[in-house]
Amino acid sequence: MSEPDGFRAETRAWLEANCPAPMRTPITSAEMVWSSSRTVFLDDDQRVWFERMRDRGWFVPGWPREYGGGGLDARQQRVLEQEMLALGCRQPQYNLGVWMLGPVLLELGTDEQKREHLPKMARGQARWCQGFSEPNAGSDLASLRTAAVRDGDEFVVNGQKIWTSYGDRADWMYALVRTDPAAKKQEGITFLLIDMKTPGITVRPIELISGKSEFSQVFFDDVRVPVRNVVGGVDRGWSVAKKLLDHERAAMSKFTEGGAPSHDALAAAAPYLAAAGPVWRDRLAGALMDQQAFALTTRRMHEMAQARQDVSALGAIMKLVQTEQESAKYELLQQVMGQRGLSWEGDGYTAEEHDVCRLWLYTKVYTIAGGSSEIQLNLIARRVLGLPG
Ligand SMILES: Cc1cc2nc3c(=O)[nH]c(=O)nc-3n(C[C@H](O)[C@H](O)[C@H](O)COP(=O)(O)OP(=O)(O)OC[C@H]3O[C@@H](n4cnc5c(N)ncnc54)[C@H](O)[C@@H]3O)c2cc1C
Repeated sequence: MSEPDGFRAETRAWLEANCPAPMRTPITSAEMVWSSSRTVFLDDDQRVWFERMRDRGWFVPGWPREYGGGGLDARQQRVLEQEMLALGCRQPQYNLGVWMLGPVLLELGTDEQKREHLPKMARGQARWCQGFSEPNAGSDLASLRTAAVRDGDEFVVNGQKIWTSYGDRADWMYALVRTDPAAKKQEGITFLLIDMKTPGITVRPIELISGKSEFSQVFFDDVRVPVRNVVGGVDRGWSVAKKLLDHERAAMSKFTEGGAPSHDALAAAAPYLAAAGPVWRDRLAGALMDQQAFALTTRRMHEMAQARQDVSALGAIMKLVQTEQESAKYELLQQVMGQRGLSWEGDGYTAEEHDVCRLWLYTKVYTIAGGSSEIQLNLIARRVLGLPG
């Protein structure tokens, strides 16, 4: 690949000089820095890495500089990703705003919305959550019922969201609400930005079997939201949501590129693999080849995007393949490791062995969040293969 401007060499030198050594090790979920108005750092290395990347605009390298971004073109962004990957640099921060809402606001937001929200995302000062799913509207999102009724310059919102990841820690929510109950179900929906401090919002964390609570239920009781917080027009939220979900799928399909916590699961399983027979080793080689083929396909997709070809529909394929492939890989490791691959806590096991079990469980999550695998197959049928709905 030709590097006309020396950007790769400069980027590598900067990363080598500025990324503290502990920030070049695989990250665990407990070590992820979720940026917000109350960002918490576990140590100085995390803070320094966060601040240096923030000040360079590299939380959002492709966004314009006027909104706090790095102003890089598509090729330079890819070079930055590759160099971070090569050095094993951790993501300096995580935020749904940056991954999903930001690109939508850049395309469809009003100037006021861009000025208010994008710089805060780019500087890691506001955490966003996603208020789409409801108790009877998950895969069938268009059946959502949370209502927003116009009252002058405001909407009054009533209803309930569920499975809102980290709703209890978010500063803002981007939500889908029903503004025209008489319209066909996709047509009466509006995309709203809601300040989580607004009176009338109650967040109830849902406790999981692990004892942790990553999800919430969010209740809206006469919550007043300014009309200026509508993105993309009243009753036009469905097309905004579809764009946002394209960005969500793209973010999820990058998980093996350092977007999510990852331990060297293979290293944990190495002693078992050495003892395993040729059949198991053959299956593992197959899984690794699939992983490599996926990485190459991702690269091809980036090059198509750079050539300004529309790759948005391919996101469904990438999300499906990536999440199912990871799931299959961990299934295989579990089988090879036997009972030790199921250890969760307790003595006599290494931390890596415990992590294999945790990450195996997490792979299930990724095949549901962001639209289940069956829904991705439906999308591929319609948007890629052009089959009837
Ligand atoms: C880790 C995680 C984080 C999440 N975070 C958020 C969040 O922050 N905000 C948010 O709004 N939501 C969030 N969700 C919710 C997620 O979007 C939904 O769980 C998902 O869309 C599926 O909806 P459901 O759970 O209602 O299942 P259902 O829609 O009831 O589906 C149940 C099963 O039926 C299958 N199915 C349904 N319809 C079809 C169909 N037409 N064709 C074929 N099969 C079908 C599904 O694939 C699934 O296997 C999260 C979920 C997870 C697991």
